[in-house]
Amino acid sequence: MSTTARAIAIVGAGIAGLAAGRVLQDAGHRVQVFDKSRSTGGRLCTRRGEGWQADHGAQYFTARHPLFAAELQRWTDAGAAALWQPRLISLGGDGQHTLNPAVQRYVGAPRMGAPAKLLSMGLTVHTQSTINCLQRLNGLWQLQSAEHGLLPTGFDTVLLAQPAAQAATLLGTTQSPLAALADSVKMRGCWALMLRFSAPVAVDFDAAFINKGALGWMARDSHKPGRSGQETWIAQATPAWSEAHIEATADEALALLLPEFSGWTGAAPDQTSAHRWRYADCEQPANLGCVWSADEQLGVCGDWLNGGRVEGAWLSGRQLALEVLGG
Ligand SMILES: Cc1cc2nc3c(=O)[nH]c(=O)nc-3n(C[C@H](O)[C@H](O)[C@H](O)COP(=O)(O)OP(=O)(O)OC[C@H]3O[C@@H](n4cnc5c(N)ncnc54)[C@H](O)[C@@H]3O)c2cc1C
Repeated sequence: MSTTARAIAIVGAGIAGLAAGRVLQDAGHRVQVFDKSRSTGGRLCTRRGEGWQADHGAQYFTARHPLFAAELQRWTDAGAAALWQPRLISLGGDGQHTLNPAVQRYVGAPRMGAPAKLLSMGLTVHTQSTINCLQRLNGLWQLQSAEHGLLPTGFDTVLLAQPAAQAATLLGTTQSPLAALADSVKMRGCWALMLRFSAPVAVDFDAAFINKGALGWMARDSHKPGRSGQETWIAQATPAWSEAHIEATADEALALLLPEFSGWTGAAPDQTSAHRWRYADCEQPANLGCVWSADEQLGVCGDWLNGGRVEGAWLSGRQLALEVLGG
């Protein structure tokens, strides 16, 4: 492992970027993380309003890999994640079925972004910093952000922890062959509805995978551990429907999707909002784990390189950091 402290920039403070940052900083490197959003967590996020909150991105995460299972234990020990045990069913297709309650599903607690907050403790994270150009001059990477222009210091190493399409755009400002790889992975959109009710929705389930129509998932978000406030449901459109309506307005998406939600639950919300994710998940993740180019001192990580979920993103970031440390 390298012993010389290097200046390392990480673009993206989602779970992949933060996992990489943690390992590299703990190994003695000088890490700075940049994110265009106002907070950390990326797609691990929660929308908050007066008296309500809802996870409009990732719904839950599971742990299959022992390394991620150990990390998840750390998160639960710190109170940043908790087991969620919804009454889970599948709807549509050949009727209604109760799904295997043995699968352990976890959520960030009290909000989805809590694990990201935990990972970012002690890291230097610059929010509202949209990196829009990378240039390598005299062996150092120069970064430019939309909000602050050219950053004052150069970096030995740059790691991109963004969705594939956004990594492809940024890599397009370099000569790196990694641009073609990022460009080759297609990410899919997702429309997510956040629905608020003045009384509990009277159905005998808390979450459902839906196999018919425009919705693919719905969940009683306020049932998740640590949540407070009014009864809130999330309903997500399928990738196919979302892609077909990706340019719709939020009002149009709500008008088309709400009748389906009401059809399944018999309930009509008092208040509604909708969020469009242009890059929610990957149709076919590249499954390379991560990619590190020691010659360029440039690497990429994220869910699109490792299975397309929270667990994959964390493992990808960690793996990239270890490859950086290895040379
Ligand atoms: C609606 C939805 C439902 C999902 N459901 C699940 C689920 O149930 N279970 C599950 O495991 N996974 C789920 N996922 C996927 C999961 O959220 C992701 O796999 C995981 O969070 C990806 O982490 P990441 O760090 O790779 O990317 P992200 O979380 O996307 O982080 C990338 C970060 O890069 C930042 N960024 C991008 N471009 C720039 C730039 N130019 N400059 C600076 N910053 C930039 C972004 O702001 C973002 O914070 C869901 C995702 C969505 C959207």
